Amino acid sequence: MPSHFLPEAYFNGAFVRFESANVSVATHALQYGTAVFGGIRGYRDASAERINLFRLDEHCRRFLRSAALLKIRLPVDAAGLQRIAVELTARNAPTGDVYLRPFAYKAGFDLTPTLDGVEDGFAMYQLALGDYYAPRGLSVCVSSWQRVSDLAIPARGKISGAYVNSALAKDDAAAQGFDEAILLNVRGKVSEGSAANLFLVRGVLVSPPTTADILEGITRRTVLELAGALGLAVQEREIDRSELYAADELFFCGTGAQITPIVAVDRRPIGTGEPGPTTVRLRQWFLQIVRGEVSEYRHWLTPVPVGAASRASG
Ligand code: PMP
Repeated sequence: MPSHFLPEAYFNGAFVRFESANVSVATHALQYGTAVFGGIRGYRDASAERINLFRLDEHCRRFLRSAALLKIRLPVDAAGLQRIAVELTARNAPTGDVYLRPFAYKAGFDLTPTLDGVEDGFAMYQLALGDYYAPRGLSVCVSSWQRVSDLAIPARGKISGAYVNSALAKDDAAAQGFDEAILLNVRGKVSEGSAANLFLVRGVLVSPPTTADILEGITRRTVLELAGALGLAVQEREIDRSELYAADELFFCGTGAQITPIVAVDRRPIGTGEPGPTTVRLRQWFLQIVRGEVSEYRHWLTPVPVGAASRASG
């Protein structure tokens, strides 16, 4: 077992050792990609006494919506998911930042690739996670792989099978020496990265709309809210490929990505070729918020006591 996985998982109704949370090779989800997942970050606060789960409620609600797309019935509602996330974090008592992965899947061994009538399963596990991307800025390409269309596999659900699309684009980008890919959708408009939403700055802050075959990212929504609070003008509208090259600044955002500058697209420098001022400002504010340093946004955090004091009392 890789050492960054934390010792306990939730698996079909009980807390178990992570290494015993396993499925059969015949599992429908493994064969056909009929599963959905979530990704939630937990940040250790300055006192080291707490892990703050970021926007847990929103993540749980989106996870339920993704599950509903695949007709997966979960044994718990959003509040129940939150309780499991909190208890799992408390049991694992992480000593650093973590990533929580809820996972709902078609657990039957049925041969037919359908949804109704196939048994469901549910799990949650946790791993240590620092930066997903190098924070100094990414060199990306526009992928020749097209973003999967809403009429094929809806990107607004976090559907496991759709991540073949992400994997093809990311792998191809890496093989060409890029850090990441930006995918265009079937209409040729900018969609998102392999695992992150995209913003550009051209006087105003612009992001593709939720109808552009993107995941409805919770960090994207967060950036839109923070931009509003900073008085930055925001547009959710279609973006052409060539606007990427013309942008003053570009950045990815996501649970893994947090806010990560993009400094080149197809080897063309963006703006000065360095992370731009709006990106840096949003990134710094975001990182303060997730660590619980901004009282105004503490309602986005679900604190889980994990420090020495909680161990002594528990
Ligand atoms: N798009 C894709 C394809 C993703 O996998 C992710 C990561 N969950 C995102 C966007 C960002 O979404 P969120 O901010 O909710 O993590």
